[in-house]
Amino acid sequence: MFDYLIVGAGFAGSVMAERLASQMDASVLLIDRRPHIGGNAYDFYNEAGILVHRYGPHIFHTNSKRVFDYLTRFTAWRPYEHRVQASVDGQLVPIPINLDTLNKLYGLNMTCRQVEDFLTSVAEPRSPIMTSEDVVVSRVGRELYEKFFRNYTRKQWGLDPSELDASVTLRVPVRTSRDDRYFTDQYQAMPLHGYTRMFERMLDHPNIRIMLNTEFRDVREEVSFTNVIFTGKIDEYFDYCLGKLPYRSLRFEHQTHNSKRFQPAAVVNYPNEHAYTRVTEFKYLTGQQHASTSVVFEYPCSEGDPYYPIPQPQNAELYRQYKTMAEFTPNVHFAGRLGTYKYYNMDQVVAQALKLYQTITERADHPLLL
Ligand code: FAD
Ligand code: UDP
Repeated sequence: MFDYLIVGAGFAGSVMAERLASQMDASVLLIDRRPHIGGNAYDFYNEAGILVHRYGPHIFHTNSKRVFDYLTRFTAWRPYEHRVQASVDGQLVPIPINLDTLNKLYGLNMTCRQVEDFLTSVAEPRSPIMTSEDVVVSRVGRELYEKFFRNYTRKQWGLDPSELDASVTLRVPVRTSRDDRYFTDQYQAMPLHGYTRMFERMLDHPNIRIMLNTEFRDVREEVSFTNVIFTGKIDEYFDYCLGKLPYRSLRFEHQTHNSKRFQPAAVVNYPNEHAYTRVTEFKYLTGQQHASTSVVFEYPCSEGDPYYPIPQPQNAELYRQYKTMAEFTPNVHFAGRLGTYKYYNMDQVVAQALKLYQTITERADHPLLL
């Protein structure tokens, strides 16, 4: 008999398990259909002894002191600022687009002020900003949109930017300075000993029992529990009764090379060439010293594990209907990227789980509200 059955051992499920077990003294059964904890953030030492991320590069960044302080209980950190280059017109240039990107691309020597004037002259203002195309074209004009965003987005999502919510390309800023960091968050760091180690420490509690290679449907009738935290797909929980929520998937091709370095940046994006979108070299992220190096190529696809909820109005509407069903399902809480159908970064998932925990404890203080 468990107080909580938690489905999914990624950030959402693991934060909930840790909080409920350590703060409420609840007994928790944490299950995952995969053979490991950590969800999509899972990392491991490959056959060459290099620390790699099985499901693509995971870089931690947040502006939330609360989230950073919370995770700091379970890991030391390696300061790391992420930088990305894009392969455009036969050369590698910084992305997000900045002063150096434009000077290199056009063979110019503009100042910050001149770049501001340049962008104003090429931008095509749009109002209202509704789609991912509107975002980019209104900031940098059509030519730069075509060079950096249009084809990358079509490859990544199987959709034109004009069919995707503004929020997707709003993730990538445009700068007139020389700042070439991918993120500008206050806290940017990688778990010193990797994500999996951090998860192990989070879940190391006598009240938490973990079962891997375990499907929710296989334990739902076999195990007795009072409450469920579900961090899998919300549409799957309800047997797709209102229809399927669409997801974009990826195929990861991992390679190890017999040289110290493979490429000149942690990540190289390929907007216009190849079937893959980007190549990541893990040693930049982890700081590991090794005679060989490991990289991962990301090939977007429609079938496979559900990695990306697709931000489009009709999907948000279908999710809203599932959410209403969830609100009428007692003792079951939904969390995480799949459970709430949100294109969330890791820190946002941690913040969401901490908030859910708070809501649950507030209700526990007032049993009549349960
Ligand atoms: P998940 O990590 O997906 O965990 C859910 C778990 O539930 C899975 O392990 C799954 O196996 C399990 N599960 C689902 N259904 C069932 C079931 N029925 N029975 C049993 N188990 C089930 N975020 C960042 O902040 N920085 C980054 O650099 C970054 N890079 C990313 C790169 C890629 C390629 C991807 C795909 C995501 C990236 N993210 C990044 C986002 C990050 O992965 C997510 O925010 C985070 O991992 C979500 O955690 P979660 O617990 O919600 O979901
Ligand atoms: N994007 C692009 N070109 C790039 C980088 C990003 O068009 O070189 C767009 C693309 O639509 C992508 C989105 O911006 O899906 C968000 O990029 P981000 O790097 O945040 O994607 P993630 O790391 O979540 O896959």
